[in-house]
Amino acid sequence: MRWVIPPYHSDCSYPPSYYADSIRASREPIELCESIQTDICILGAGFTGLSTAIFLAEKGFKVIVLEGARVGWGASGRNGGQAINGFTGSLKDVENTLGPKSAALAHEMFEEGVALIEYMVNHYAIECDFKYGNLGLAVTERQACLLEKEVQQKREEKKGEFEFLDKEQLANHIGSKLYKGGFIDWKSGHLHPLQLALGEAQTFEKLGGIIYESTPATAIEEKTNHVRVDTPKGRVQCSRLVLACNGYFNLQGHRVSEQILPVYSEIVATEQLTDQMAGEVMPSDASAFDVRFLPDYFRLSADRRMLFGSSTNYGRPGKGKPGTKSLTRMHKVFPMLKKMRIEFSWRGRFAVTVNRLPQLGKIGSRIYYGHGYCGHGVNCSHLFGRLISEAIGDNSERFDVFANMPQRKFPGGKHFRIPLTVAGAYYYHLRDWLGI
Ligand SMILES: Cc1cc2nc3c(=O)[nH]c(=O)nc-3n(C[C@H](O)[C@H](O)[C@H](O)COP(=O)(O)OP(=O)(O)OC[C@H]3O[C@@H](n4cnc5c(N)ncnc54)[C@H](O)[C@@H]3O)c2cc1C
Repeated sequence: MRWVIPPYHSDCSYPPSYYADSIRASREPIELCESIQTDICILGAGFTGLSTAIFLAEKGFKVIVLEGARVGWGASGRNGGQAINGFTGSLKDVENTLGPKSAALAHEMFEEGVALIEYMVNHYAIECDFKYGNLGLAVTERQACLLEKEVQQKREEKKGEFEFLDKEQLANHIGSKLYKGGFIDWKSGHLHPLQLALGEAQTFEKLGGIIYESTPATAIEEKTNHVRVDTPKGRVQCSRLVLACNGYFNLQGHRVSEQILPVYSEIVATEQLTDQMAGEVMPSDASAFDVRFLPDYFRLSADRRMLFGSSTNYGRPGKGKPGTKSLTRMHKVFPMLKKMRIEFSWRGRFAVTVNRLPQLGKIGSRIYYGHGYCGHGVNCSHLFGRLISEAIGDNSERFDVFANMPQRKFPGGKHFRIPLTVAGAYYYHLRDWLGI
């Protein structure tokens, strides 16, 4: 079977962002201009592709990565940088569908994504300002009560290192009067995501791998004993293919493309704050998100800028220059930042699923995919890189926990799935707004 992959961007340079402006090492990209053979070919040099590549190269596989734009060009190089343990959807769904053994395996993976990032950072000496401490914030009293119970449960299950914070305790971590309570997880944290992606690319190359940039796959075809990947100027023949394209995944006409929906979010970055201001807005330098359906997420960069993300648009990017909504929200959360200049604003695309659990799976017998992290991808992409590498290395027990979960298409078909999903999101947004 052969699938065509439509073009998905027009420019291989990094979009202007604080991250692109603050990378510390440059790369000399190479393009694929010949026909080659390899054990494993990976499409996409974001965290999913790069972590899979590293874990496979560590096992001795001959691996290449094809990246349609640049390393970290997708969501991995543009996100909020929050490495938060766990998954978005409910692991109860896993238990109800696959039983307690699979649910127990999924529970054991709760902290693994961030631990894998820590492994990358420490073992391969990647400089990306990685730091522990992540806050979950309640906007209503009701949410604060729910968070208190959740923290209690996490502590009983010995997951993460959670502390519930009432309004007074919260003041040690955040200089905003908006929140009614929250928690801090000392085993989640934050980092410079583009630096991490570039560091992982360099690590993979040191392990003997090759990354071809500006090299989009235009079609893939599974043959009896290999997979063929076409690119504009070359071709790859591999025994296994990994699709790590997340929000850009699009095998024309394949069911998997209808199981995820692209979603856009945007971030603004202020000019550098003084030490005093930084200490007033985020005294413990933790990253933070609120627990609404469409959350705000924010943190200080290593050079003390406020990076504030907000706004989610389903299916299409918002209109005009990115950042308008994030800026309004930032001023509401931190009125003292109204006088600060905005130096960068950008948006990016990631993928969501119907049940909000991330998806792992296989197409035929040689093609693997992992995506749909629903905004939790900094950690989950690394976990899924590990699980894909285990499955290719002949141990698919943990891969199967996610691969065996039923994966539903978004309802509404080609024309109505976006409006229907937007309507559903508005419902949850309204509930947040009403404080339900
Ligand atoms: C603004 C924003 C803020 C976010 N904040 C957070 C956060 O704070 N915490 C968190 O956990 N998650 C966050 N996320 C989500 C997170 O960034 C993603 O889930 C994660 O980076 C996905 O990684 P990935 O490698 O799967 O995909 P991506 O990083 O998107 O990489 C996919 C790559 O595939 C390439 N590609 C696509 N098609 C082809 C093709 N045909 N051939 C070759 N290459 C191809 C693309 O060029 C791209 O580089 C955020 C996302 C956005 C956009």
